[in-house]
Amino acid sequence: MTLLEFWDHPTCGLLIFILGACLGSFFYVCIVRIPKDISIIFPGSRCDCGQSIPLFLNIPIVSWILLGGRARCCGRKLEFQYIFLEILTACLFLLLWQKSDPWEFLVHGTFFGLLIIASGIDFATMTIPDRCTIGGAVLGILGSVLLSHFSRGNYIFCGGMTSIRGMLLGSSVLLWIAVFAELVFNREAIGFGDVKLMGCIGAFLGTKGAIFSIFGGTCLGMVTLLPLWYLFNRKKNKIKFDTSLPFGPFLALGAMSYLLFFKTVVDEYFSQIEILLG
Ligand SMILES: [Zn+2]
Repeated sequence: MTLLEFWDHPTCGLLIFILGACLGSFFYVCIVRIPKDISIIFPGSRCDCGQSIPLFLNIPIVSWILLGGRARCCGRKLEFQYIFLEILTACLFLLLWQKSDPWEFLVHGTFFGLLIIASGIDFATMTIPDRCTIGGAVLGILGSVLLSHFSRGNYIFCGGMTSIRGMLLGSSVLLWIAVFAELVFNREAIGFGDVKLMGCIGAFLGTKGAIFSIFGGTCLGMVTLLPLWYLFNRKKNKIKFDTSLPFGPFLALGAMSYLLFFKTVVDEYFSQIEILLG
């Protein structure tokens, strides 16, 4: 069996699911530690009581279920977000695998990881660190060059230009919306972190994906993220009319759904417009 034959085999899908769950576990660590400026590698996993967690109790999804959502050392409740992120990442990677060749999976899987970490940090702290956004934009340009060469057989130059155009257009469209929103609402409605995140998304997706992420992401987010956000925050009694919402997760949702579900339709739509405009 060649590598490409194995790639299409269901066993590979199972391995991808397990990889996704493990990475989801790692992303959780990143979301908790990056804002506190703690290394994401050392020390290893630790319970809140300070005990280190042995490897056999650190199996994604399985451990959480076997332990009934409680820590074995001290019995405290484990965060629900922990298993949620593991399952979410595993499912997203499985969907991505179905749509991708190995090169696309490598580049877009990295992109999904960045988006998950950026969204998690944005949800928790209302800011997005530069190493996700600016670092992500650099990875996006490199990834597009790689894909253009290995997956699509185009010139390297072609992928790089598409990527840089997407980065500039995506971030500038959102910047103009931010400036306009600030004039209307008389306060900052969209932060500069979101503008930088949009640059990263454009670098990975090009112009069409960037435009869809802003407008499609906002629409999808209203339907899906807003009720979720309300459910999670209802008990804390902190919902007011002037409560700010993190915008990063909306953009991430738009970017992921573009790659997973809407790419064909959206690209067709934009090429029809190009024809109309002559
Ligand atoms: Zn403990």
